[in-house]
Parts: sequence; C-alpha cells; structure tokens
Amino acid sequence: MPEQENQWSGVTVIDHPLVRVKLTRMRDATTTSEEFRARLAEVATLMVYEVTRDLRTKTRTIQTPLAEFGGAVLERPLVIAPILRAGLGMVEGILRLLPDVSVAHIGMYRNEVTHRPESYYFKSPGNLADADVVVVDPMLATGWSATSALAQLKEQGARNLRFACLVSCPAGIEQVRSAHPDVPVYTAAIDSHLNDSAYIVPGLGDAGDRYFGTTL
Ligand code: URA
Repeated sequence: MPEQENQWSGVTVIDHPLVRVKLTRMRDATTTSEEFRARLAEVATLMVYEVTRDLRTKTRTIQTPLAEFGGAVLERPLVIAPILRAGLGMVEGILRLLPDVSVAHIGMYRNEVTHRPESYYFKSPGNLADADVVVVDPMLATGWSATSALAQLKEQGARNLRFACLVSCPAGIEQVRSAHPDVPVYTAAIDSHLNDSAYIVPGLGDAGDRYFGTTL
C-alpha cells in the first residue's frame, strides 16, 4: 500500500482501494451496526500492514526441514492501546494479524459541552518503555483525546508510539502532530473539517454509537 502524498510530514494516508470501499460502507448512514462492526474490523486488519511496516526486527536462527535459516522476529514487544469506547472496535481486526500482542485500555469520554476528553480509566502492561505502542481510535477529530492518550502513555514510560485511525481531519492531525511530533499518524482518510459539535464532516457519525448500536 503506497503512502499517499499529503501536506503533513509524519502522516501516512492508507489509500488502498479495499480500505476506501469498506470505509464507504461505514460512512453510509443506512449501514447497520452489524455491518459497521464487520467493516471496521476488516479495515483495521488491512491497516496493520502499513502501520507496522517500519517495525524493527532482529535475527532469529531457526532450522527449516532442509537447513539452518536466519529468520526474523520483532525486536520489541507490541502493545495496542485503544481509546475507549470506539477504539475497541479496531482491536479485533488487529488481533487477527497480531494475536500475541498486549492490549492496553485508555478510558476517555467526550465532555459534550466542552468537547474536551475526560479520563476515567488507564491500564497498560508494565513493559511500555521497551515496547512499540500503537494507539488506536477510529476517529481523529479535535485530536485532544489522542493527545491526552499519548501523554498518559509517555508518563508511564512509552517511548516508541504511533497513532492509527480510520478518519481524520486537518484540525486533529495538527493537534496531534504539534503536541507529539515524534508520533507518526496513520489514517485511512483525511476529511474536510469539524462541525460545531466537533464531529468530522463528512465523516461517519459517532463511531462508538454506530459500533455498539447505541444510536437509538
Ligand atoms: N468521534 C466520532 O465518533 N465521530 C466524529 O465525527 C468525531 C468524534
């Protein structure tokens, strides 16, 4: 999946046709929660390939049926850190390709008046300093939740971080990249703008509500 040209350094747009097709189904307001869940998992799986492209490996010598072979294993443990709630929707798809990773949980909800994130839960494995940590949230809107999640992980020792989302917008990208210039951002789409309620336009609505079926 080639990196699509964009105006931000450190931002990779994963513009694969299958990602665009599945994301279109997710954007469609008539798509059911059942299909939304399935497509979100699939897009997350497809994104893993690009998000992990530059992970470092080290040599592991093994014996094939014919000869000794200098193969590869990941150099550092991998931690996936979903921002609750909606980030949980990406975990299943990521675990399909990376079944042995640790999963941290970062609980944050959006204060509907201030649109600022309120933190209510944080649980991570003890090896953050040695790990590659991928923070995931389907939507990068204002960027405040992502910025706060990344700061919490850094306070707990994380040093090698990256952020992956499905839909982002210029404001969110600018917020994350200016607060955490060391953290690369991976996104399937960069949408136009935020509306007055801090929803991404055109976006896909509230990802958590659509994933968990709490829109009604
Ligand atoms: N969170 C969402 O789920 N959707 C948006 O558009 C913005 C934030």
